[in-house]
Amino acid sequence: MKPVIALVGRPNVGKSTLFNRMTKSRDAIVADFAGLTRDRHYGDGRLGEHDFIVIDTGGFEPDSSTGIVKEMAKQTRQAVAEADAVVFVVDVRAGLSAQDHDIARYLRTVNKHVILAANKAEGMKDAPQLAEFFELGMGEPMAVSAAHGQGVRSLIETALEPF
Ligand code: GDP
Ligand code: MG
Repeated sequence: MKPVIALVGRPNVGKSTLFNRMTKSRDAIVADFAGLTRDRHYGDGRLGEHDFIVIDTGGFEPDSSTGIVKEMAKQTRQAVAEADAVVFVVDVRAGLSAQDHDIARYLRTVNKHVILAANKAEGMKDAPQLAEFFELGMGEPMAVSAAHGQGVRSLIETALEPF
């Protein structure tokens, strides 16, 4: 069985860009506006000898009245249930948000290998902006740039480590 990695995070943090990077495909739709990826989206990835499956998520309703937890029940929760490892993506340029805290609270309740990916970190390695994400209680944030490919290889290695 190939290990399954789910990409989870609030809209616009770069999950679909990361999905494309991890699967070397253009399958996921990358958009400048939030909430476009309506359905879970599967892709095949390979790192060296290791094959894996990536699930992109992101169908949170732009309408905030639905609430992120409710949307997660419909979409992200299912992807997380199917996953062996969860990459929790945050946006280091936007900084920590209330939605990030909501997602962290949810992820603490699932018994999964969770890796925190601080995306949009091109040119920002070891930057002080990374420090605030420790607050999420998800361990050390890994600086990545999905758009530029930086840190993606070691992110995948860390996600696949237990498998
Ligand atoms: P999603 O909603 O989480 O799937 O986010 P998308 O992958 O659709 O990306 C949202 C926006 O962030 C797009 O404009 C991307 O081009 C941009 N983006 C994604 N990754 C990076 C990155 O590593 N660096 C920068 N600067 N922008 C990025
Ligand atoms: Mg998306």
